[in-house]
Amino acid sequence: MSPKPRIATASLAGCFGCHMSVLDIDERILELATRVEFDRSPINDFKEFRDRCAVGIVEGGCCNEENVELLEKFRKQCDVLISLGDCAINGGVPAMRNNIPLRECLEQAYLKCPGTYNPLNVLPNDPEIPLLLNRVYPCHEVVKIDRFIPGCPPPADAIWAALTALLTGRSAEPVYEHLKYD
Ligand code: SF4
Repeated sequence: MSPKPRIATASLAGCFGCHMSVLDIDERILELATRVEFDRSPINDFKEFRDRCAVGIVEGGCCNEENVELLEKFRKQCDVLISLGDCAINGGVPAMRNNIPLRECLEQAYLKCPGTYNPLNVLPNDPEIPLLLNRVYPCHEVVKIDRFIPGCPPPADAIWAALTALLTGRSAEPVYEHLKYD
């Protein structure tokens, strides 16, 4: 018997809402589990890749160097890479900072915000903190993306339709009726 195709997911600069929508395919996850192996994903809580994947699903854009590193790794590891949701596709809510210089954003968040407690008056500078990028980049500006599923989050039916189409070799273009933008 040929090995099952593998599916992996990753969350970059997103809110995990798109992953919640993946889980929202509900009992169909059981059907999916009979047809695929889940690799790195919150479904099994694997943090690292186990093997090459047929499909990778990415939520969120790139706001720091760690996001870029993970996205590039994902691209190398997956045959088909899906940008899932508006943050991955156009930066979404995190990209609201793109019109403001990074230094100004940091000062507002860590020095000037009325709710900030920062007696030393310093910006976070621990080397453990991933370096912020000058702006938030959608995934396709960092690596090649094969499919886009828009929405915030995309409805579970749109994700299910795309995954089943890909797994059966059909076109995985979004179906208009599955999409909503409210
Ligand atoms: S697209 Fe919406 S649901 Fe998905 S990560 Fe961004 S904010 Fe969250």
